[in-house]
Order: sequence, then C-alpha cells, then structure tokens
Amino acid sequence: QLVVLGSVNADHVLRVPHFPRPGETLRGHSYQVLPGGKGANQAVAAARLGADIGFIARIGDDAIGRQMRDGFAADGIDVSAVECDPALPTGIAIIYVSDEGENNIGLSAEANGALTPEVVERHAARIAGADTLLLQLEVPLESVLHAATLAHAAGTRVVLNPAPAQPLPASLLALVDLITPNQTEAELLTGVAVTDEASARAAAARFHAMGIASVMITLGAQGVYWSEQGEAALIPGFRVTAIDTTAAGDTFNGALLAEQLRGASMPEAIRFAHAAAALSVTRFGAQSSIPHLAEVRAFLKE
Ligand code: ADP
Repeated sequence: QLVVLGSVNADHVLRVPHFPRPGETLRGHSYQVLPGGKGANQAVAAARLGADIGFIARIGDDAIGRQMRDGFAADGIDVSAVECDPALPTGIAIIYVSDEGENNIGLSAEANGALTPEVVERHAARIAGADTLLLQLEVPLESVLHAATLAHAAGTRVVLNPAPAQPLPASLLALVDLITPNQTEAELLTGVAVTDEASARAAAARFHAMGIASVMITLGAQGVYWSEQGEAALIPGFRVTAIDTTAAGDTFNGALLAEQLRGASMPEAIRFAHAAAALSVTRFGAQSSIPHLAEVRAFLKE
C-alpha cells in the first residue's frame, strides 16, 4: 500500500486577467470552491491512477470537509485515517488563476495544523506496514519528521515532495529515499538555481550529498531531471496547451508512485506521470483536473 500523509484544503479559486497589484481591486470571474491541498491532491491522483492508497489527514468538522472526505472515499481512498478536528475549520487556500494559466496562492492551515506528531503516532502501524510513504510540507514539520522517522525505521520507502518551499533540517532530508522538488524548491534546498540540465545535475549532486539516493527535479513544461545510483537523464514532458497548472506537481507525484508500485521502471513511471500531469494542466482546478487511469493510457497511445 501507498500511504499519503498531508493536507486537505478547500480551494477558493478566482480567474483574473492578471494578478492584482498592491492596492488594486480587480474584477475576476468563474469563482469556484474546489477540493485541494497537496496531500489530498496527491492521494487522489494515486487513487485515480490505480494505487491501493491510505490517506492520513485532518479535516474540520464542517460541510466542506465532510464533502471532500466523501469524495476521497468515492475515488477509492481508504479514509479511515482522515480525522475530523472538533475545533478547527478545514484548511483553505485562496487562489488566483491568470489568463496565462499561472497561479498565485495564499494558504491557511486550519485543521491541517492540528495534524500533530501525536496524530501521526496513532497511525504508526499503517505507516510501518506501507510500501511507500508520500509526504509534503503543508502539515506541521515535526509531524512530517515523525512520520519519516517511523517509516525509515520500518523499512517503508520515504518520498518527500518538499512543497511549499521551505528550509528543511538535515535530519529530515537524511531519512528521505526519493525527493521530488520543483525548480523553486530545489533552489531553496540546494542553493543552485535550476534552469536546465547542467544546473539540475548540480542540484541533484547536492541532494545526493545530503544522503538522498533518488532525486527527481520537475522543470514544468521542460520535464524532469532524474538521478539515482549513477543513472541520470532529463526526461521531457508532453506538449499541451496549459489552462491551469494547479496540481500539476501533485498529479505527477501521485502518478509516478502509482505506476512504480505496479512494477514500472523509473523512466517508464516518469513517462506515465508526465502524461497524467500534462492532462491535468489542460483542465481547471486541483482535484477536478486529475485524470483517471484509462485517460492516461489512452493519451499515451495517441
Ligand atoms: P509544480 O506544479 O509542483 O510547480 P512543475 O511545474 O515542475 O511542478 O510541473 C510538474 C510536472 O507537471 C512536470 O514535470 C510536467 O510533467 C507537468 N507539467 C507542468 N507544466 C506543464 C506544461 N505547461 N505542459 C506540460 N506538462 C506540464
């Protein structure tokens, strides 16, 4: 089983012609409240793409939280470790999406902030019994560290998508088997500005020196730079017209692990994840944009 531990957010999305400047009031359109949160997006991606998946998370005791949890269950996710916080609302994100398909996001953790190390401890057996644990950084860092520690001790592979970008202790990075930063996150963690294959190679070398065996740096439309055990390659993605890149990285992470757990090699899993992520950027929203397995297989046959 794949276990995802992470955030659940209600995304309040507004489309705008350009991002508002300080002091500017801008007329937007197509306001929607959509299921999001990096943890939830990655769990949904893995589930829609065929993985056996358990999700450890915390929602608020509110309608939007319960509605999202029902949605996770409908996608086939084991939600028995999606806990309901009695005192806090479900996490939220305020998202502007520009006409170019770029996004701009403000977050409030709310119930995600109450996913404490004690909560993680309650699910220690699930983490220890998993093949792979997938983590991001929208829940408290000490909880991420505790989960990674439990997984590492039990021989569960630790995958860290270090998003949103923030500095991380060496003690956490040393527990990570596979790290999947985007360019911003890779630069923040390694000090190397990643723009092309040569700079990605330099950043990957820094990650290896931190004790991380497998490195996958996503470069948006350019693809990914992958490096492990002396093998390395820049693997380009698919050309599509981007409508909304929200959750591209989340779809990529969930898809990569779903395909890998079916026995695919890393380059095969990357190609599959590129296809899933490319489909997601052609659609609006976070979870609403994540494709199902049959769609990805059909896209790959085209
Ligand atoms: P994040 O969304 O975390 O910033 P990236 O922008 O690096 O991550 O994108 C992650 C993956 O999503 C890429 O490796 C690629 O597979 C896919 N992707 C992102 N943007 C595009 C795009 N414009 N066209 C095609 N694929 C894309």
